[in-house]
Amino acid sequence: MSIKSINPANGELMKSFEPLTKSQALAALENAHEAYGRWRHTSFSERKEVMMKFAGLLRERQEVLAKLITLEMGKRISESRYEIEFCAEIVEFYAKGAEEFLADHAMDVDGAKAYIQYTPLGVLVGVMPWNFPFYQVVRFIAPNLMAGNTALVRHAGIVPQCAAKIGDLLEECGLPDGVFTNLFIPHEFVDLLISHKHVRGASLTGSEAAGSSVAAVAGKNLKPSVLELGGNDPFIVLEDADLEKTVEMAIKGRMTNTGQSCVASKRMIVVEKVAEKFMEGLKQGMSSMKLGDPLDEDTDVGPLSSEEAAQRLEKQVNDTVNAGAKVVLGGGRPERKGAYFNPTILTDVTPEMPSYDQELFGPVATVYVVKDEQEAIELANDSSYGLGGSVYTSDPDRARRVAEAVDTGMMFVNQPTNSQADLPFGGIKNSGYGRELSKLGILEFVNKKLIHMG
Ligand code: NAP
Repeated sequence: MSIKSINPANGELMKSFEPLTKSQALAALENAHEAYGRWRHTSFSERKEVMMKFAGLLRERQEVLAKLITLEMGKRISESRYEIEFCAEIVEFYAKGAEEFLADHAMDVDGAKAYIQYTPLGVLVGVMPWNFPFYQVVRFIAPNLMAGNTALVRHAGIVPQCAAKIGDLLEECGLPDGVFTNLFIPHEFVDLLISHKHVRGASLTGSEAAGSSVAAVAGKNLKPSVLELGGNDPFIVLEDADLEKTVEMAIKGRMTNTGQSCVASKRMIVVEKVAEKFMEGLKQGMSSMKLGDPLDEDTDVGPLSSEEAAQRLEKQVNDTVNAGAKVVLGGGRPERKGAYFNPTILTDVTPEMPSYDQELFGPVATVYVVKDEQEAIELANDSSYGLGGSVYTSDPDRARRVAEAVDTGMMFVNQPTNSQADLPFGGIKNSGYGRELSKLGILEFVNKKLIHMG
């Protein structure tokens, strides 16, 4: 079946790509393995030179690349521009920092000299989602290529133009053939590649189902893996929060990328003392957002990434409302062409309803009212996910106490969880394992080799 690039704002087919055959996929793997034999011996400065060119090219072509993202998965154009700039920052961060991050670590153990040397592992397979079609790939390849590994990337089926473009840009920067390869392949070939003896690790960003499938194959074949999966981040509002700013953060946290972010603020947990006021502000802010063409600078809410995504969200919301939840705002799709969904607020969501512990990947906030801080923490932790979260208070001691008590990989104070090149990113529980970005991100797929000098 061909891989289709469809504009979610109007349903139009823009381009089709033919998937590789099994033998073509295996030939690409062979090529990546041969390239590894050479790439691993290049110096940090040689790798840095190529990657800095890549960062430069991302900036130079920002407008064209941003438009491609917007056309292919519906992100608002200003957010697409930001995604490209952020990618350039990540590439630069690793291009400049890799040599230091991977410098030998000297040890003095009982008078004997020893050191840890960080060396690449080989060919890695990356399976990536569509929601940040450039950022997700860059987050995976920037550290790993700088470490001396080579990468085969299987991008999400709905963003083939972005996938191909990343490969073209890297080629233009002079990255040797086989160091990065974009693969248009069906899911089952991913298993085949991960099982192959030349592949030394796998990284997946996506849903729990996909993560569990890829991790099972990696585990069976004794390969390390990193999983960056879904989230249901709590957004905890305490009575001493600056409410005006908190509402602003809630809207940003929930609506960025039309709500299609793993670290979106999906569960607003508000203490009863300020719940009414918070809800008033949230409703007012979300109801004034303008739906429209994501290429239009005035648009606040674009379409979801695909018709299937909009239908999936609609079913989750309907099932939750039919089970007794209340709709405070929105609740469905507007009467217009494209994969749109109205900004929605749900309350009275209880544990047996789908929206309680499922990820709602779109512009839908669930608001829970709790008695106090302790109840907020308990509710925040009653989740199978553990990716990010945030807490809103004017008391730094309370902020620290709550942040430390919530079981997630990341907690932010007075701002929603965000990602930054120099901050580690990742989760616990069903949100996955391992870390990307920062120094930790480059240490996932390297051999931490002990050399004992006697
Ligand atoms: P998805 O359906 O799991 O897809 C992710 C990638 O996995 C795609 O390339 C997909 O290919 C592939 N895939 C799906 N099933 C597979 C299988 N059995 N074997 C091999 N590959 C498989 O997720 P999505 O809908 O694209 O992305 C949204 C999810 O990603 C959300 O849950 C979100 O929270 C999560 N996410 C997490 C992070 C993080 O850093 N923690 C960041 C962004 C997104 P196809 O597209 O062809 O199906």
